[in-house]
Amino acid sequence: MAELEKDVKKAIRNIPDYPKKGIAFKDLTTLWEDGRLTRRVTDALEKKWSKARLDKIVGIEARGFIVGAPLADRLGIGFVPARKVGKLPAKKVSVNYALEYGRQGLEMHADSIAKGDRVLVVDDLLATGGTSKAAAALVEKLGGKVVGLTFVTELSSLKGREKLSGYEVYTLSSYD
Ligand code: AMP
Repeated sequence: MAELEKDVKKAIRNIPDYPKKGIAFKDLTTLWEDGRLTRRVTDALEKKWSKARLDKIVGIEARGFIVGAPLADRLGIGFVPARKVGKLPAKKVSVNYALEYGRQGLEMHADSIAKGDRVLVVDDLLATGGTSKAAAALVEKLGGKVVGLTFVTELSSLKGREKLSGYEVYTLSSYD
């Protein structure tokens, strides 16, 4: 395992049975408390994506903002929030998607992506892939091109990569 992956996994706190029984919650707040390690995470994502000629980063509410906004600054590109339903004030596009239980919506401002914009979708963690696929669908609805999706970590047994097949997916660490 690479040094960074080892350090990232050591810093992520595991919370069993949260928010409900049977879910092993990965709490990244303990990673973000460590400024040096957080900088190494941003460094690694910058290195991976710096040659991708990106125009925008779309960060998924809320933890995708924490990872995506500093990366956008590093790359010198714009940051666009993909938000839960009812939070954005201007004209927006919406998508509904299935969660493990029930459904959820995600919205972006209609003028936040220009036709042909090259976009990277960012979140803290890839689980089933439903959320990030919904964000990618919104980008495409607005005429943007999804160049890739990136995460600090992934739960590989939930097969999010299969749901995102056809897209480049890059994560810094993974749990079986
Ligand atoms: P999914 O749509 O299943 O890929 O879920 C991804 C979203 O839910 C991300 O925004 C994650 O932050 C959050 N999430 C899902 N499962 C977990 C988990 N086991 N630990 C921490 N966050 C999770």
